[in-house]
Parts: sequence; structure tokens; C-alpha cells
Amino acid sequence: MNKAKEQAKRKDQADLLSKFRKEFHHSEEDLIYLDGNSLGRLPNRSSHLIEAVVKEQWGTQLIRSWNTDWMDLNKRIGAKIATLIGAKPNEVILTDSTSLNLFKLAYGALKMQGTGRTKIVSDSLNFPSDLYVFQGLIDLFGNRHELFLAQSGDGICVEEKELYSLLDEQTALLSISLVLFKSSFQYPMEAVNREAHRHGIPVLWDLSHAVGAVPVHLNASGADMAVGCTYKYLNGGPGSLAFLYVREDLQNQLENPIWAWFADDKPFDFDLDFKHSKGINRFLTSTTPVLSAAAVEPGIDLMLEAGMDAIRQKSLEQTEFLLDLYDQWLAPLGFMLGSPRDPKSRGSHISLRHPDAYRICQALIHPPVGEPRIIPDFRSPDFIRIGITPVYTSFLDIWRSVERIKGIVESNEYENHSTERLGVT
Ligand SMILES: *Cc1c(COP(=O)(O)O)cnc(C)c1O
Repeated sequence: MNKAKEQAKRKDQADLLSKFRKEFHHSEEDLIYLDGNSLGRLPNRSSHLIEAVVKEQWGTQLIRSWNTDWMDLNKRIGAKIATLIGAKPNEVILTDSTSLNLFKLAYGALKMQGTGRTKIVSDSLNFPSDLYVFQGLIDLFGNRHELFLAQSGDGICVEEKELYSLLDEQTALLSISLVLFKSSFQYPMEAVNREAHRHGIPVLWDLSHAVGAVPVHLNASGADMAVGCTYKYLNGGPGSLAFLYVREDLQNQLENPIWAWFADDKPFDFDLDFKHSKGINRFLTSTTPVLSAAAVEPGIDLMLEAGMDAIRQKSLEQTEFLLDLYDQWLAPLGFMLGSPRDPKSRGSHISLRHPDAYRICQALIHPPVGEPRIIPDFRSPDFIRIGITPVYTSFLDIWRSVERIKGIVESNEYENHSTERLGVT
């Protein structure tokens, strides 16, 4: 164990991204945060920026700030996200929530298809809320469509051939997550797009667990549409605005179901009849929550400064280090790996499965005196998700976390905790 600790320290010393750690707020010295895949840490620049936006823009400039600072926030930040995910600046916009964006784009795709195509394809490991959105759309379109889910053999991966077997000339839409929320399985985006396009099917990607975690090349992989979250790996703040991407040539073919003024061609003409705006603006809805939108930018700047390739490189090294320690210390204690072994096929979190996963998480979060507080998260039924965020996770954090998990299980310390689940796990 101590050899691995020395190795962790050496890796931290050689780490070119270690300077980004101080860009984030660290309130407790002994807190190891492994949940950046659910809610990213607070960038120091965001606290300063929010204060300036509140005092100078809202407080002093008042309504004048719309023209000087606020009106172009959605597009400007969207364009920065575009560089992060391999799209053109006019193909991405910051707006609404991930679920709402998913709804809008899936609606647009189904409406565009007319009546011939009636299948919506996804997979059984997708974020359930995404599937609820499709179920709601099926109802909205008068139950003409049916949802088909590719099944997983092992609860971790979805075989490409299993997914492809559902695609045909009756399929209206394929929508999946690039990186799966529980297992971290990552689809080969380009191959999936190619296979779907062979049948004339548009693909809608959910990038929530991928953006800021793995390099994404939407244009180069032929992607049609995508949505994603900014409060996870992009560190945009609790409930921060999401983004959507629509390939340039597809934009004017998709209809936004919500005909509100910011989707209108000329919102400030106050014309009585709605006219769909052209381009990416047509997917906006309404007045943007400025405080939340402004807070998204520093986290994205940090990602761009660190560089997605360097982030991925470190994430791969860190997840491999974690897996080595898992093999030596945790597998013998009854843990099972809940993520793919093949680094190509996974994102930046690793799931460990254990029958007492919930209580082990509770023990990590509520340590006895002298032990570090470690925050991963739990996903039903038995997953402990360990989020690796290379901009602030160190190799020593990983070593200490595995050592602590080992101690908790060996000493049965988790038995001191209740199995009663909190509202948010
Ligand atoms: C986090 C996440 C969301 C979040 O949806 P909200 O609308 O922000 O609540 C959606 N999809 C996936 C795959 C996610 O991981």
C-alpha cells in the first residue's frame, strides 16, 4: 500500500494539470471530492464574477446591462462550449435545462419525420429521465410512436450490434447518452452516427456525463443533435443552464415546440404572430437567468485552458491507477467493477459495486475523527460512483480514497450507518 502511496505522490509531482487545483474553492482541508460528475466544484473565478455581475451589472447598470452584457450571453458561452465539443460557434447555444433541450430537439426530429417512421430507439442503461421525455412525447404525438430499448448483457455496456439490430427504415430517432451515467460506458460516437445515417435516422446525443470529461468531436463524427449539462464536469454551478447543439444544415428543418418570444425572429418588434427565428436562436425559449448563465463561463474557460486532450490523458492515467488499486485491495473484499475495463469505452468516472454500497458511501461522507471526509455518490442498487475530475482530483486523493474504502469494509465500520436513504443520494 505504501509503495502505491509513493507512486501517487510522484505522479502528482509530474502532473502538468496540478496547477488548476487552486483555481477551485477548497473549504475543508481534509475533504476529497469525488462527485464532480454530479455537481462540479466552485471555481474561484465564478465567485468573483457572480459578485461583479450582481453589484456592477444588476446593482449599478440595471436594465442597461441587457444591451451591454446580457443579451449575447447564451450565444457567446454557447460558442465557447462549441470549441470544447468540436462544433461551429453558431451550432451551440446555452439555454434551458438538459431535459427541456432534449424535449425540444426530440420533438423537432419527430415532427420533421412525418408519419412513416414510428420507432424511437434508446437503451435500457440511459438516464431514466431521458426515457420519460420520450414517453411523454409519444403521448403528445398521439401514441403513434413506440420506444425500443437496446438491452445490456452485463448492466455495464451496450453491445453495438444489439443497438444496431433495432435500427431500420421505420426508426424516427435514435437518442442515447455518449457516456452512461451509472457505468461510465462510452459509445463510439462516429460509428453509431454512421450506422444510424445508413437508415436515414437522426441521432440525438446526451453529453451530460461526457462534456468536460472526454474529448467530443461533434462535427468530425457527423453528429446531428446533442444536449448536455454544465453543472457536472463543466463546474457551472447547481442547476446551471444546459446547452444544445444542432448541426448547421439541420437547424431550420427542426421546429421548436415552444413558441416563446426568444425563439421568434424579432422578439422586440412585439408582432402579434409568432415567426420561427432562423439558425440556433430558434431553440431559445425566454429571458435567460443571467446570474446562472454568467456563472457558467469561468468553468468552461478553465476547461479550455487545461485542454480536453490533457484532461483526458490525466483522467485515463487516474482511472487506471484507481483500477490497479481496486484489483489489489477492493476486489478481494467483495467489490465488483461496475465500469468497462477498456479505457476507450469509458468516461471519467468509475463505478464500484458492493452489496453495502449505500452504507459504505455514508461512512465515507461521515468519517470518524482523524479520517478524511470523502464524497463520492451512490446510485441504486449497489453502485458507488467515483468521479475523477482531473482539474482538481489528485493521485493522492485516489490512493487515500481506496485506502479508506478498504478500511471501512475490513473493519465493518459501515455497519454503524443506517440503510435509510436520503432524498438525494
Ligand atoms: C445530469 C443529467 C441530466 C440532467 O437533466 P436536468 O434537466 O438538468 O435535470 C440529463 N441527462 C443525463 C444523461 C444526465 O446525466
